[in-house]
Amino acid sequence: MKPALFSYAAPRSLDEALVLLAEHADDAQILAGGQSLAPMLNLRLAAPDWLIDVNRVPGLDVIEETAEGLRVGAMTRQNALLDHVADAPDWSLLAQAIPHVAHRGIRNRGTIGGSVALADPAAEAPACAIALDAVIRLASVRGEREVPASDFFLGLYETAREPDEMIVAVFYPRPAPGWLFGFDEVARRRGDYALAGLCAGMRVEEAFVRDARLVFFAVGDRPTRARVAEDALIGRNVADIAARAAACAAARAGIEVMPGGDCGVEYKRRLVGVLLERQLARFEAMGGDRDG
Ligand SMILES: Cc1cc2nc3c(=O)[nH]c(=O)nc-3n(C[C@H](O)[C@H](O)[C@H](O)COP(=O)(O)OP(=O)(O)OC[C@H]3O[C@@H](n4cnc5c(N)ncnc54)[C@H](O)[C@@H]3O)c2cc1C
Repeated sequence: MKPALFSYAAPRSLDEALVLLAEHADDAQILAGGQSLAPMLNLRLAAPDWLIDVNRVPGLDVIEETAEGLRVGAMTRQNALLDHVADAPDWSLLAQAIPHVAHRGIRNRGTIGGSVALADPAAEAPACAIALDAVIRLASVRGEREVPASDFFLGLYETAREPDEMIVAVFYPRPAPGWLFGFDEVARRRGDYALAGLCAGMRVEEAFVRDARLVFFAVGDRPTRARVAEDALIGRNVADIAARAAACAAARAGIEVMPGGDCGVEYKRRLVGVLLERQLARFEAMGGDRDG
């Protein structure tokens, strides 16, 4: 199929892009890597009047690392971020997760901003953003604002972004000492969207869990923290088998599973427990060493 007719604009500055977005808001879509939008246009699942192609806007693909954290411009290609974080212990979650995003060719074009904006519940980048306590930076002609990743994903392909706003960056604060991170997912084939996945962070001091962020994706209508499971672990020893079993049971019982997709609700629920059990064993093996 071919897309429905649309007008095309290729702004050369962020200001120009934001003015176009303000003018056309609900009738416009930003074109980033096009890896999701182009198929959606061809299948006529999306039929915007305007495409605002931001590939020529300078400065949107810059990665800046400071003592405070990592600021990743929205147009940073997924593989460019992977290159940056590949050997960086603080960003081990991103280094583990990004290779699971589709295939190399798609990651060469697909952007971090596009993945976060799309809010596919099975995508890796939104779950990583929550597990790393990231902040999403949005810009419009009205100014800029920041939304914590934990408040950004509102439902199936739904976010806190207003129609006239554009994501300009994702900021990942540098994890404090003691944080360990792990990633796992189950997919039918490497590169497929996951059937269920987990981005896990845990702050461990002298083998005791002080804080946890356990974010499941490809399970509900958005990436979701398993708060009851986190509470079951906090204050307990990472090697405490009973606490770990209680956390897995709580995660399985408490998670909201969205029906439909590639497998049944009960199978996904089971995967939630398996993913967490495996990751907690890895955290025990990692002990206090963030490099694992
Ligand atoms: C075969 C295939 C397999 C895939 N598998 C996976 C997978 O396993 N995991 C995964 O996470 N993804 C997967 N993807 C999706 C891929 O990661 C996309 O690149 C990503 O979802 C969207 O990024 P993009 O830059 O291509 O955005 P686009 O396709 O250009 O845009 C996607 C949407 O986001 C909006 N948008 C883009 N940038 C911005 C911005 N800065 N501000 C506001 N709105 C914006 C667009 O208007 C559009 O609505 C797959 C894609 C394909 C084709």
